[in-house]
Amino acid sequence: MDAILQVDNLKTSFMTSGGEVQAVRGVSFQVKKGEILGIVGESGSGKSVTSMSILRLLADTAKIKEGAVYFENQDLTKISKRKIRAIRGEKISMIFQDPMSSLNPLIPVGKQVSEMMKEHHPEKSKEELKQNVLELFAKVRIPEPEKRYRCYPHEFSGGMRQRVMIAMALANHPELLIADEPTTALDVTIQDQILHQLRELKHEYGTSIIFITHDLGVVAELCDRVLVMYGGLIMEEAGIDDIFAHPGHPYTMGLLASIPDIEQDRSKRLQPIPGSPPDMTNPPAGCPFAPRCPYARRICREELPDFVEVGANHRSRCHLQTAGAPADEHNPFAGGKQS
Ligand code: SF4
Repeated sequence: MDAILQVDNLKTSFMTSGGEVQAVRGVSFQVKKGEILGIVGESGSGKSVTSMSILRLLADTAKIKEGAVYFENQDLTKISKRKIRAIRGEKISMIFQDPMSSLNPLIPVGKQVSEMMKEHHPEKSKEELKQNVLELFAKVRIPEPEKRYRCYPHEFSGGMRQRVMIAMALANHPELLIADEPTTALDVTIQDQILHQLRELKHEYGTSIIFITHDLGVVAELCDRVLVMYGGLIMEEAGIDDIFAHPGHPYTMGLLASIPDIEQDRSKRLQPIPGSPPDMTNPPAGCPFAPRCPYARRICREELPDFVEVGANHRSRCHLQTAGAPADEHNPFAGGKQS
């Protein structure tokens, strides 16, 4: 499968009064044509900053310090503001956790989607644009599209607002959709419908999707491949079946052990990962997971492990693998789910 996006050694920091927060510390990966790539990790792992860096949607205090993001033979970190604006919404779209913050409360939703389309297709007539919006609303299963076209965001439920955002993101048939925790605020039934819609999108248009979440359960339902991030770094990368069957990194094992399993013995408690994420103003020199890892030893605190291939298209960054000891034979977090 061809890559449509290539991220090379991306480093992004925030300059704050408390010092430089090294949110992303050298991240490299590809997104292949037509695949759904999950990026999973706790708050502060760097997953959202990675995605915002791709489209340069960062706050003024943030800076891409190093690295490149290649899309259609150009480095998105280096092109002009005018060029990146032309790519946003047309070739690469984004949907966020809170649709309210992305929708204008004073403009009917239909008009907002239509204006978004018009920006990239000024040649289309008003009637043509409206027709396209109604078709999109029907596609994302917004009932009574004609009536809903004239409604304001506050007249929609959370799930319906998210559908409007998906319609807006799809307005120009992007090649890549970045979805940053789009279902986190929704109840499970609506979440399921939104995931279903994203899957349909991939099948119908061949759209590639980066799906950012803290929930490995959602990743299992939706994604083809997953990156596990921690402390501003990728810790593990694998195909979806492989990561659940053979997790190679203790942090991934911890995440798996904390997923509720409907078939699990209810007397067994879920295993949270003890401790908290590292302070990114002063990230550790060695493995950032060391303070929380039951396997940690001296080398872990001193040296950042390199990636090791632990299977076909499966790499993990852990000293246990560099020393040749398989990490998944003695899951320290056992007791929760590990298939
Ligand atoms: Fe744990 Fe060491 Fe592996 Fe980090 S490198 S995950 S501290 S064993």
